[in-house]
Amino acid sequence: MAQSASQQPATTATGTLHQKGLTKRARLRRQMYLAQMVSFILDAAILFLYTLSGAISVSASALYVAAGVGWTAIALILSELHFNDRFQDHYLTVPQSLGSIGIELAAIYFIPEVGFYFVSIIFVVLGFGALRMSARQTGVVWAYAAIGLTAVFTLTNQPIGMPMHSFAERHLALLCFVTALGRCAFTGLYGASLREALYKRGNELKIAHAKIEELAQIDELTGVLNRRYVMRALNDEMARAQRSGTPCAVAILDIDFFKRINDGYGHPTGDEVLRGFAIALTANMRSIDRLGRYGGEEFLVAMPDSTKDQAVLGLDRLRQIISELDWDAISNDLKVTFSAGIAQVRPNDAPEDILARADAALYKAKDAGRNRVMVG
Ligand code: GH3
Ligand code: MG
Ligand code: MG
Repeated sequence: MAQSASQQPATTATGTLHQKGLTKRARLRRQMYLAQMVSFILDAAILFLYTLSGAISVSASALYVAAGVGWTAIALILSELHFNDRFQDHYLTVPQSLGSIGIELAAIYFIPEVGFYFVSIIFVVLGFGALRMSARQTGVVWAYAAIGLTAVFTLTNQPIGMPMHSFAERHLALLCFVTALGRCAFTGLYGASLREALYKRGNELKIAHAKIEELAQIDELTGVLNRRYVMRALNDEMARAQRSGTPCAVAILDIDFFKRINDGYGHPTGDEVLRGFAIALTANMRSIDRLGRYGGEEFLVAMPDSTKDQAVLGLDRLRQIISELDWDAISNDLKVTFSAGIAQVRPNDAPEDILARADAALYKAKDAGRNRVMVG
């Protein structure tokens, strides 16, 4: 019961995210269908000029434009109703391309006088569609276009061409090809924008991954390395020292009578002390020392390039700093001290060996009265 209540907000948040994603997808599709609509309206304008020149009939060109705009409108309505979201490729690129190419093939057949214009539009449709289709899908759509063109070219005697008799017709042909070329350029730019978006997304993912990686290393309460990562740091430093023959010391620090702090001032104050303790240690140790939270109020430090004697000096300085710290900001009369056990890496030590020696030294420090540093 409690679990389902705590999961509620997460489910709602995921739902909102999902909803946002769907809205964004619908907006992207809308832009694409509007561009397609503009493309058909451009065709309408060009065909209208051809009807003025008397090269083609008004009814044929009106039918072509009606088919193009109608087909796009149906796609847009389905998209707005979120029908497309049921499919992996929510652009429905394959049926879209097949439909558009079908219209162009019919136009070549029924308006053969300007047939080459419609052929050039098929280039644009296939080029645009291929940006979103798999190789197999592109092959299927290409085969469909090729078969359709073959049928129109070989099974009919339609006089497919482009009228070039008059000055006007010659320049209308030029207009056809220049606008088709413009659509090719648009397709290329669209492809480039997709690539750029992917590149940007890749970079964002890289940053997010680095952030997650960083967060995974940190102990939430104190901000120092967590147990898993301080153990990894210990392994790394030990291996480096054993490889290069340089000294390396390891210390386990344990806050004295921490239970009393918890009992006397409350658990939240205990947490504040742990946080302040970790901050004070971090601020006063060398940057190459690796500090992590080993357990509740126990911390582990790996000190590369340190003999145990140097480590004693360093830790004794830290011990002094902590014992003299003013904790008034957290609670009046609060005193915090720690005890530490130190051990130096030996050539054949495993991490368990050095931790056992440091732990034994820590117990000696506790036994000897606490607030002191001992070597194992
Ligand atoms: P000693 O000097 O022998 O170390 O005495 P101690 O009281 O510190 O001994 P012990 O290790 O038995 O007690 C540690 C206490 O730390 C017990 C536990 O309740 C407390 N503790 C562990 N983790 C946390 C934490 O995240 N926050 C708080 N506030 N207390 C914690
Ligand atoms: Mg303890
Ligand atoms: Mg303790």
